Amino acid sequence: MVRDMVREFAQTEVKPVAGQHDRDHTFPRATTRRMGELGLLGVTVPEQYGGPGCDYVSFALVAEELAAADASHSVIFGANASLTVGPILTFGTEEQKQRYLPKLTSGEMLGCYALTEPGSGSDAGSLRTTARREGDEYVIDGQKVFITNGAVADVCVLFARTDPGSTDARGISAFLVDTKSPGFTVGRNEEKLGLNASTTNQLFFEGLRVPAENLLGKEGEGFKVAMSTLDTGRIMAAAGSVGIARAAFEASVAYAKERKQFGRPIASNQAIQWKLADIDVGIEAGRNLYLKAAWLKDHGEPFTHAASRAKLWCSEMAMRAAIEAVQVHGGNGYTKDYPVERYMRDIKIFEIFEGTSEIQRLVIARHVLA
Ligand SMILES: Cc1cc2nc3c(=O)[nH]c(=O)nc-3n(C[C@H](O)[C@H](O)[C@H](O)COP(=O)(O)OP(=O)(O)OC[C@H]3O[C@@H](n4cnc5c(N)ncnc54)[C@H](O)[C@@H]3O)c2cc1C
Repeated sequence: MVRDMVREFAQTEVKPVAGQHDRDHTFPRATTRRMGELGLLGVTVPEQYGGPGCDYVSFALVAEELAAADASHSVIFGANASLTVGPILTFGTEEQKQRYLPKLTSGEMLGCYALTEPGSGSDAGSLRTTARREGDEYVIDGQKVFITNGAVADVCVLFARTDPGSTDARGISAFLVDTKSPGFTVGRNEEKLGLNASTTNQLFFEGLRVPAENLLGKEGEGFKVAMSTLDTGRIMAAAGSVGIARAAFEASVAYAKERKQFGRPIASNQAIQWKLADIDVGIEAGRNLYLKAAWLKDHGEPFTHAASRAKLWCSEMAMRAAIEAVQVHGGNGYTKDYPVERYMRDIKIFEIFEGTSEIQRLVIARHVLA
C-alpha cells in the first residue's frame, strides 16, 4: 500500500517537474510540502508523535519510488526522514521527540545532518568543530561542508567536539540546533554535477549558543549517534539507487523497442538485449539486498553489514545502469531532450555520500574478517 501510494504521487506529481527543477537548480518547495502532507517526511515516526508509524521496509520503498521519479526528491526526503528523524527517534529525550517529530513529519520543519567538515569526510571522527560548555549552554564554533537541506532546514543535527583534549571519535557530541539562532550562518549552495534540485551548503558557526537540553544522546556519544544514523541512511541510499536504476532501465527498454536502425528496432540486437538483461538482474538483486537490510533493522537484528552490502552494490549497479542507458539512447542520450543524462549525473553521488564505496568495502571487509 505504501509503495503504491508513493508511486502514484511520485509519478504524477514529482516526475513531471523533475527536469525543470534540474535545469533551473531550484528547490522543489511545492512537492516537498506534499511529501509532508502525505506523512513521507517522517514515515517511520510513531503515531504518538504525529507520524504514520511505518516500518523500515516501507521507508526504503519510499526512497526507491521517489528516486525513480527524481533523485533530488529522494535525497531531500532522506536528509529529513532518515538523517534528522532517525537519531531523534533513537537517541532523543521524550521532550525532544515531542518538540521535533510532529513538525518534521508534517514538513512544518525540515531537518539537516551536519557531520562533514573541510578536513574530515570519510574520517568523520577527526572533526574539528568545538562545543564548549558555559553554564546551561554550549557555545559552538566551526564549519561544515556539503550539508544537504542546509539552506532550507529549521533544525540541524550537528556534531561537535565537546572534549577539547580529544582528536578522534571519542569526545564528540551531537546537538539539535535551531538554524535561525544567532551565530548560525548558511554559506554557498554548491554547484554540483547533479542533484540540482537538492541544496548542498556550507554552514558556519561562530559563538553559536545551544541550550544544554538540546544535547542529542549523552555527552561524548556523538560518534555513535552519527554512525548508527548512517547505517540506516545506507539503506535509504541503496533503495534510492535502485530507483534511479529502474528509471534508467524503463527508459532504455522503451527506447530500444521504438528506435529503429538497419530497418529494425535496436532491441532486436543481442548487444542491446544483454545490456538490458544485466540491468534487470542488477535491479532485482539490489532490491533484495536493501529489503533484507531493512527487514533486519525492523526485526532488531544487526544490519550494519547488510546495509553496507546493499549500499555498495546498489549504487555501483545503478551507476553502470545509467551509463548503459545513455549508450542505449545513442546521441539522444547525451542531450537534455531525454532524462537519462540526468540519471547519469544524479547517481554518481550515491557512490560517495553516506560513506564512499571504498568505506563500504572497508566495513564489509571488517565483518568478513571478524
Ligand atoms: C551532494 C552531497 C551531499 C552531501 N550531504 C551530506 C550531508 O547531508 N551531511 C554530511 O555530513 N555530509 C554530506 N556530504 C558529504 C559526504 O558524506 C562526503 O563527501 C563523503 O563522506 C566523502 O568524504 P570526502 O568528500 O571528504 O572525501 P574523502 O574522505 O577525502 O575521500 C576521498 C577519496 O579517498 C577515499 N578514501 C578515504 N579514506 C579511505 C580509506 N581509509 N581507504 C580507502 N579509501 C579511502 C574515499 O573513498 C574517496 O574516494 C554530502 C556530499 C555531497 C557531495
